Amino acid sequence: MQATKSWGKVLVMGLAMGWTLTAVADPGVVAAKSAKTTKEARAAAAVKSAKNDWAVCPVEKTKILKSRAVDTAVYQGKTYYFCCAGCKPAFIKDPAKYLK
Ligand SMILES: [Zn+2]
Repeated sequence: MQATKSWGKVLVMGLAMGWTLTAVADPGVVAAKSAKTTKEARAAAAVKSAKNDWAVCPVEKTKILKSRAVDTAVYQGKTYYFCCAGCKPAFIKDPAKYLK
């Protein structure tokens, strides 16, 4: 009985993994991803390439991992990373105030 139980477990795990792989390789999923706006894609790429890279939130002066930033904004060609949802709108409202 024990052996039958373990085999069942392996089968369920295999099915679960197979499902995950199918979902990732699904062309529909890929198409949906590329349909994102350029702005979104660029922000995502910036966050992705910035893995393990540190930044300082210009609003609260908090040191944050770029990959963990809640949001980003590009101002005068420079990318800024924000530690919480309220920081981006505050920064956009008056960037000069936070860049002194
Ligand atoms: Zn913040």
